[in-house]
Amino acid sequence: MAIRVTPKLFQRFNQITKALSSSPSSLPVLPLNFDEKPESFVVKPEAETGTGTFQRSSSSSSILDFEDTQKLFSTFSNTKLIRSVFNLNMASIDPVVDMGIWVMRSRLLEVPGFRQAILGSVKHSFYEQFVAGKDLKETSQTVEKIYGEGLRGMLNYGLEHAYDNQSCDQNYNTFLNTIESTKFFPPSSVSFVIVKISAICPMSLLERLSDLLRWEKQDPSFKLPWKQNSLPILSDSSPFYHTPEKPDPLTQQEEQDLQLAHERLTKLCQRCLELNVPLTVDAEDTKIQPGIDYLTYNSAIEYNKLGGKTPIVYGTLQAYLKDAKERMLLATEAAKKMGLPIGFKIVRGAYMSSESKLAASLGFESPIHNTIQDTHDCYNECASYMLDKIVDGSGAVVLATHNVESGKLAATKAKCLGIGKENDRLQFAQLYGMSEALSYGLKNAGFQVSKYLTFGPVEEVIPYLLRRAEENRGMLSSSCLDRQLMGMELKRRLKAGFGM
Ligand SMILES: Cc1cc2nc3c(=O)[nH]c(=O)nc-3n(C[C@H](O)[C@H](O)[C@H](O)COP(=O)(O)OP(=O)(O)OC[C@H]3O[C@@H](n4cnc5c(N)ncnc54)[C@H](O)[C@@H]3O)c2cc1C
Repeated sequence: MAIRVTPKLFQRFNQITKALSSSPSSLPVLPLNFDEKPESFVVKPEAETGTGTFQRSSSSSSILDFEDTQKLFSTFSNTKLIRSVFNLNMASIDPVVDMGIWVMRSRLLEVPGFRQAILGSVKHSFYEQFVAGKDLKETSQTVEKIYGEGLRGMLNYGLEHAYDNQSCDQNYNTFLNTIESTKFFPPSSVSFVIVKISAICPMSLLERLSDLLRWEKQDPSFKLPWKQNSLPILSDSSPFYHTPEKPDPLTQQEEQDLQLAHERLTKLCQRCLELNVPLTVDAEDTKIQPGIDYLTYNSAIEYNKLGGKTPIVYGTLQAYLKDAKERMLLATEAAKKMGLPIGFKIVRGAYMSSESKLAASLGFESPIHNTIQDTHDCYNECASYMLDKIVDGSGAVVLATHNVESGKLAATKAKCLGIGKENDRLQFAQLYGMSEALSYGLKNAGFQVSKYLTFGPVEEVIPYLLRRAEENRGMLSSSCLDRQLMGMELKRRLKAGFGM
């Protein structure tokens, strides 16, 4: 089904989301002074301001309360606070991160003595901070703990790319075990199981599918005999530089491999349906994302009809991409016409440097927004649009972000729309070990909040840890607010301990 994003559709979208896009969305720069209170914002809903715009204010009546650190970190032991402050501070020092990244990528990891020493030190620093456990047993303890504190868990075995059917089968079994394990967790403590398509479909095939889908978008007469039901995957503004020439059709072997990939994903979705736990597919880089979206939408069409208004299969939208908003509109409109609830996890995106490098090496403009403000606007607009979809019953969203402004804006709009904790179709989410203040602030404000719990043995989660190291580096990273508030709380406890 071909749906075009007409100027009218865009105009309507822009009207709906104008309120969010007009607000500043970057995290305030916070000094590393534990006495100084962070600037507080209040995002006033339309009803209060009468203008339909969101306003900044220094009032303490913000939807998220970060000022009462005692309440915010009430479930944190002193040890956990000290460890988090230490790890997050180390991760903010560029030379430390550079050195860590160099070591983790170096051949030293292949030298037996060094390997043990390196993995040991990673385990007691970054790993402890960002990884929920080495296996399902340890992870279940983490889930129980955060569930006791009012948060839910998104289970993500830290698998990366697979290159043949044998590894895809192994990865499939790991995902299936993860889904099966949810039977033994406290009811509703697990909000999602995460699946990476590049772990259950060989990488070379995902690249071929993506090339063929791009070519089909450019030339609709180009037929893809293997293509099953899907939602629109690409838009007129999607980049095409990855596919400079007409790709060969899939070989018989590739078609068989595709069938196997479909079967793996379908079986995972079927089990999720039976156990009533939704599945979210992660987004990866643009080279393979069309193939990922194709498989995701195909399963969403089959399974989302079966779970009532709450989708079983969610895709992920990366708001740092220039074509993200347009693709989201096309997919949601098409799903609506099919009477299908659609679910998205919305993120900013974690592959920024590799995306820009690849585009530059091919002599093309980066697919990432030209300014960070454009990314913030895109994130907030897509979030706002999907919140409206919750209200009209056609969509669901996971707002996966560490950005405090995006959290506040969405929380304020959700409150105005009457979407609260009882509604499974809105979930806020942060990575385990990051943005604790935002997670607990949103939970205290009355929303469902999940932690994205990556687990696995230390050597298997190194690519994930490298992405976290990149993300947390620098004094302005999203861990800045946590470092400051946790430091304030430690100081408060110290003073209370000495009766000061
Ligand atoms: C629960 C969860 C699930 C996730 N799943 C995925 C996933 O499936 N796929 C994926 O790719 N990522 C995923 N991520 C990672 C997410 O994309 C990163 O956390 C993201 O890079 C940080 O964005 P933020 O919303 O936390 O905002 P912020 O903390 O405000 O981060 C902003 C960052 O965006 C970057 N940025 C984006 N656009 C620009 C631009 N135009 N110019 C300059 N800088 C820019 C900068 O590095 C900046 O530091 C997930 C995150 C969470 C919390």
